[in-house]
Amino acid sequence: MKKTKYVFVTGGVASSLGKGIIAASLAKLLQKRGYSVTIQKLDPYINIDPGTLNPYEHGECYVTNDGAETDLDLGHYERFLDVPTSQANNVTTGRIYQSVINKERKGEFLGKTVQIIPHITDEIKHRIQILGNTSEFDIVITEIGGTIGDIESLPYVEAVRQLLWELGHENALSIHLTLIPYLAAAGELKTKPTQHSVKMLMQSGVNPDILVCRTEHKLNDGIKRKLALFCNVQQDSIIESLDAETIYDVPNMMLEQKLDEVVLNKMKLPIDGEPQLKEWNAFLTKHKNPKNTIEIGLIGKYVELHDAYKSIVESFIHAGAHNEVKVKIRWIHSNELTLENVPSKLEGLSGVLVAPGFGDRGIEGKIETIRYARENKIPFFGICLGMQMAVIEFSRNVLGLKDAFSTEMNSDTPYPVINLMEEQKSIVDMGGTMRLGAWKCQLADNSKVKEIYKQEIIEERHRHRYELNNDYLEQLKNAGMIATGKNPDTNLVEIIEIPDHPWFIGTQYHPEYKSTVLNPHPLFVSFVKAALEYSLA
Ligand code: GLN
Repeated sequence: MKKTKYVFVTGGVASSLGKGIIAASLAKLLQKRGYSVTIQKLDPYINIDPGTLNPYEHGECYVTNDGAETDLDLGHYERFLDVPTSQANNVTTGRIYQSVINKERKGEFLGKTVQIIPHITDEIKHRIQILGNTSEFDIVITEIGGTIGDIESLPYVEAVRQLLWELGHENALSIHLTLIPYLAAAGELKTKPTQHSVKMLMQSGVNPDILVCRTEHKLNDGIKRKLALFCNVQQDSIIESLDAETIYDVPNMMLEQKLDEVVLNKMKLPIDGEPQLKEWNAFLTKHKNPKNTIEIGLIGKYVELHDAYKSIVESFIHAGAHNEVKVKIRWIHSNELTLENVPSKLEGLSGVLVAPGFGDRGIEGKIETIRYARENKIPFFGICLGMQMAVIEFSRNVLGLKDAFSTEMNSDTPYPVINLMEEQKSIVDMGGTMRLGAWKCQLADNSKVKEIYKQEIIEERHRHRYELNNDYLEQLKNAGMIATGKNPDTNLVEIIEIPDHPWFIGTQYHPEYKSTVLNPHPLFVSFVKAALEYSLA
C-alpha cells in the first residue's frame, strides 16, 4: 500500500489571498510530474455545508458527482486537476461537530467528557486522512479555510500540528500563504505582517516549512533573507506569488519559483524531469490570443458578486479559449429588466445566458429577456432556473397559457408548467434535500444536444427541487419546444430546445460544474461558437 503524504495550506494576514488557487496550482504541477493528487478544503463555519448559504455570503455553491454541496474552491480543484472531487473533499466545523455529537449519543465515548481536544481534533484528523487512506493518492493537499488568528480555525490548526508531529517531516508539511503589502509612500515592501502571522502560527505549534508570499512587486534577496530569518523558514522555501493576469498562469508562476520541487525535496519524493504542461500551455496561448471578441449577457439576481456564478464564468473562459474568442460578460441584474428596457439592455450582445437561482426576485425580467432572445433569434442558454423560465415564457407567449408559472413562484397558477418534484413534496428540511449530484440523461435522436455531445447517454450534476410538468410536454412539442434530454429511469425532462432557432437550449442540470481547462464543456463550447457566428453574421 502506498504511503500518502500530506500538505497543509494555511493563510495569514488577510483573507482572499487565493489559497485555493495556490493549492490547485501546486497540485497541478505535482500531477503533471506523475503524482496522483487530491485537494481538500476544511471550512471553519458551523453550517453542515454551504447549501443553505446565500450566495452573497460565500459565492457559488459547487456540487460534486456524489451530490455534495460544497465550497466554490472545489470547483477550482476540479477545473485545474480534471479529477472529480467528492463529499470527502469538503468538511465544515458543522459536519465535524455533528459526527462527534452523534457518536456521543450512541455512547461511543461512554464515561468520558467529550472535548475539543481530543475529540474534535481527532475527528478533524480522521477526515483529513480519509482521502489518504483510500491509497488512491500519493499526495493529499488540505487547505484550511479562514485566516490564522481566527477563533474558529484553532481546532484545525491544532489538528494540523498533531498530524505534522505524528506523520513526521517527510510525510507532512505546512505551507503558509501571506501578504507582503507595498507602501507606496515609502516605496517599500513590508514583511512585518507576515512575521506576526508566522509568529501566531508558531504559538499554535506549527512551524511553516514553506512561505508563499502574495505581493504586487518582486521580492528581492534582502527581503527573502529577512523573511527566512524571522520566520524560521529556509530561504529557498520563500516563494513569491505575484499578481497574475489569469488564475491559470499561477501553475507556471509556481513552477518558475520551484514550489513543486521544494515540496518534493522536503518530502523526499523523486523529481524526474519537468511537469508536462504542454496541453495546459496550449490552452493559455489560445486564451491570451483570441481572434475575436464577443459579449454575452449573464442574467441573474446575484450579479453584484461575480463569485456567485464562478463556474459559469470559468466555463466561458474554457469554451472561449477553445473557440479562440474572448468572451466578455455583461452582468445584467434581472431585477432591473422591464418590458420596455430589455432591447436596450441586451443591445450588442451575441448571446444570453439566464442563470440558475431560487425564489421570485427578478423573475419577470428573466422571462422578458428570454422572449426577446427567442423572438430575435439570439443564442440563448438557460441553466436550471433559466431553463424553467424558458418553459414558462414559451407557455405564456406561444401556447397562450396566461399566467403559466412555476409553483415555486406561484402555487396557485392555473398552468403549473414547472412543478415541485413528487419526491420533494414530503420534504421539510432545507439542507441537502434537493435533487443533487450526477444523474443520467438520455439524448434524443436528431437533437442539437446529441450532435453537440456526440453521445447518447450523458451524466450531469443537479441541484433543484422543481421540474418540467410532463402534462405539458405534448403541447410544448407541437408548438416547437422539444424535450431532447430525459432521465432514462424517471422520464424527468433534463433538456429543452427549440429546433427552429439557431441556438436555444435549456438544461435542468448544471453543465458549468463539469467544465475544466483541458475538457471545456461541449454545451458551452457550442454556445460560444453559435454566439460568435451570430456576431459575425
Ligand atoms: N429554484 C429552482 C428549483 O429548485 C431552480 C434551482 C436552480 O437553478 N439551481 O428547481
